[in-house]
Amino acid sequence: MTRFTDSFEKKVKQTIEKYDLATKKEKIIVACSGGKDSTTTLYLLKKFGYNIEAFHINLGIGEWSKKNLSNAQSICKRLGVMLHITNIKDEICKTITELKENRCRICSINKRYILNKKARELGGEKLAIGHNLDDEAESIMMNLLRGNLEFGLGAGPKTGLIKDKKFVQRIKPLFFCTNKETRRYSKEMEFPVLLEPCPHSAFVYRRQIRNWLNKLETKDKNIKRNIVKWHLNKLPELKKKHKKEQKLRYCRICGEPTRNDICKRCELLI
Ligand code: ZN
Repeated sequence: MTRFTDSFEKKVKQTIEKYDLATKKEKIIVACSGGKDSTTTLYLLKKFGYNIEAFHINLGIGEWSKKNLSNAQSICKRLGVMLHITNIKDEICKTITELKENRCRICSINKRYILNKKARELGGEKLAIGHNLDDEAESIMMNLLRGNLEFGLGAGPKTGLIKDKKFVQRIKPLFFCTNKETRRYSKEMEFPVLLEPCPHSAFVYRRQIRNWLNKLETKDKNIKRNIVKWHLNKLPELKKKHKKEQKLRYCRICGEPTRNDICKRCELLI
């Protein structure tokens, strides 16, 4: 342990406790992509004594996916955590690479959909994801710049504006850890992880926002933290305001929870 890894772990522990992310009795499914954030989340939840199982979605993106899968398998084996695997091809009949257009949108909507569904089927009471502070700041800015008025209702260290038996609550233990901190922690802990992003993600909007925030950060190192702090303060008011509009329905086609008549995933398949 170094002073850095020690303080990093304390920060994650405090986030879990302060925001009441999970109890030791609850079964937590950890979304395990094989990347640095999810591996860190997995490792720390295990270290802190939570009841976890891991879940990996094989996206079928060539060597990049193969390496991520083998990394996920190796960390789960090392920690003695059960790993469940789903191939996205079994869900949408194609790998992400085989898609001709809209790859990133189809990928993100399906990942979200599969994660919730499988976490529920595996008896998960919580779904832990590796989102860090940078991811959160990017999401807030993306929604704001797109004029999405319901923006960020799913934000915060745990989601859950709508309580429903088909929705597994998502928790983000790395909520207050920056990308740089997670990268350093993962490096110091010698986790088997790929640091390269998905080869298809170079031109997506999120990447542009990320580059922009990183540029601003060189002038003001607190910028991401300030965006997230501002949003966290606004969140209770936003939730209150939108509570009535957040009626949940079940998708007419697949029966999964959605705010609309048909869920986003089925809309894409029509
Ligand atoms: Zn559906």
